[in-house]
Amino acid sequence: MPILNRIAEFHDEITAWRRDLHQHPEVLFDVHRTAGVVAEKLRAFGVDEVVTGLGRTGVVGIINGKSNRSGKTIGLRADMDALTVTEKTGAAYASSILGKMHACGHDGHTAMLLGAARYLAETRNFDGRVALIFQPAEEGGGGGKVMLDDGLVEKFDISEFYGMHNWPGMPLGHFGIRVGGIMAATDRFYITITGQGGHAARPQQTVDPIIVATQMVTALQTIVSRNLDPLDNAVLSVTMIEAGEADNVISQTAKITGTVRTLDGKVQDFIEQRLNEIVPQFAQSFGASATIRYARGYPVTVNSEAETQFAADVATEIVGADRVDRDTAPSMGGEDFSFMLNARPGAYIFLGNGASSELHTDTYDFNDEAIPVGASYWVRLAEKKLAAG
Ligand SMILES: [Zn+2]
Ligand SMILES: [Zn+2]
Repeated sequence: MPILNRIAEFHDEITAWRRDLHQHPEVLFDVHRTAGVVAEKLRAFGVDEVVTGLGRTGVVGIINGKSNRSGKTIGLRADMDALTVTEKTGAAYASSILGKMHACGHDGHTAMLLGAARYLAETRNFDGRVALIFQPAEEGGGGGKVMLDDGLVEKFDISEFYGMHNWPGMPLGHFGIRVGGIMAATDRFYITITGQGGHAARPQQTVDPIIVATQMVTALQTIVSRNLDPLDNAVLSVTMIEAGEADNVISQTAKITGTVRTLDGKVQDFIEQRLNEIVPQFAQSFGASATIRYARGYPVTVNSEAETQFAADVATEIVGADRVDRDTAPSMGGEDFSFMLNARPGAYIFLGNGASSELHTDTYDFNDEAIPVGASYWVRLAEKKLAAG
């Protein structure tokens, strides 16, 4: 089955919604206008229940199928927030707000799910309930987690979650998905090394924290290269070193900051443990001391087996088997849909955005030609998962 006809008929209209959202980007939890537009449209489509203010500014729409023998509710999730980037696309519908931009395509995600909502509210050709989830603050802020903390699963009795993200570089009309980790856990670490400051001309009377810090960076690089199983994946990047104030003074302290990206909880635990071992002992061997604070960010986005195969089958119905990569390369970026997948099984899929600029760049734009593909995927996913009679 290719693109649904009825969705193709809405294409121009959904594109107009997308461009309106694009012109009015809002960041983090401050997505008041966007959430207002979403709630208003859901009500206009005749969605049975529209709940606003979940997770501060999140919106949930519930559509009842023709029957509810299954008693099952599945959650389809889109994100609504933009980024603090100054747009340089030159598009006629470019951001009207200086310094804010939909540089991750969440305008497209929101518009596609609205398109699917309209279709599903019109046809209701399914047995059970569909929860349309529009979340704030994906780009930092963990809006998805805040919606869960507000009772998203319990309030609507959601048994599975599905998410989608547009993917620059993947051809238009293609999908990519994989079982297991598809987006990384994004952790940060903060190291403080304390030595003994003093005169730069008398190093023998000091413990130079800069020497410790620079050599510690090299030692930290052995965690991934020498300690981790080569068949596992991880990134450990030191991104900041701060120390010293004068050319003739040896500093008292040095600070190292960095990020760890992993695709597996066990690898994540292992790297955190190695950091905790290396940092104090390494400093001690120089006569210095060091502390580390390891801060966990978004967890690994883990696609469950059965739901991932199911999602890939749905994508195959829309675009054909040769356009669905069932073993797509994972990304070392983070995604707070991970919290929903930790709460319930489900799957997160990449949707080809064609040869566009990369996500989070000032020339990126969501590809409106992907709208019928993504919206058809949502509709078929609901109809197939909650097959009527
Ligand atoms: Zn993003
Ligand atoms: Zn994004």
